[in-house]
Amino acid sequence: MIIDLPQHPLGEVFAINGSMEIENEVLKLHFPINFQEAMYELTYFMKGKEQCFYCSRTFPKDKITLDHFIPQDFGGPTIPNNLFLACKKCNSEKTNMLKPFYDKYVSLSTSGEKSQFVSDFQQIARFLHRWYGLVFIQDWLEEKEVEHIIVNIFLDSS
Ligand SMILES: [Zn+2]
Repeated sequence: MIIDLPQHPLGEVFAINGSMEIENEVLKLHFPINFQEAMYELTYFMKGKEQCFYCSRTFPKDKITLDHFIPQDFGGPTIPNNLFLACKKCNSEKTNMLKPFYDKYVSLSTSGEKSQFVSDFQQIARFLHRWYGLVFIQDWLEEKEVEHIIVNIFLDSS
């Protein structure tokens, strides 16, 4: 899986916090750190903390959330490529909808139409899960031959 990382114009290290830095386009995580929390923090670092991706309005930092563009329900990973800033309203409306469905939902005018659409979408979602499985964006995947995988295993002898 590919995680797009920012490049420092002068080739310097981006120190994101005490546990995480980017050097020469390599993300270094100094454990112990929760991977999901690290990805959230990296996303805020890369995308700012104010503008909702879906409605384009700006919000105070404590009112913005992160949305999985491809929902986790469809296999959307928790990496910056797939995380977008969303206000609480847009994030809670979008739920597990893929973007084309959410665009359609937003275009509906009455709450009756919207709730019917959500109900129809949940049926479609079950169909998609059953027949197509998970959704992946091809640009995020890379085929690579690996010569060695080194695993350090520490066995407790006690
Ligand atoms: Zn919004």
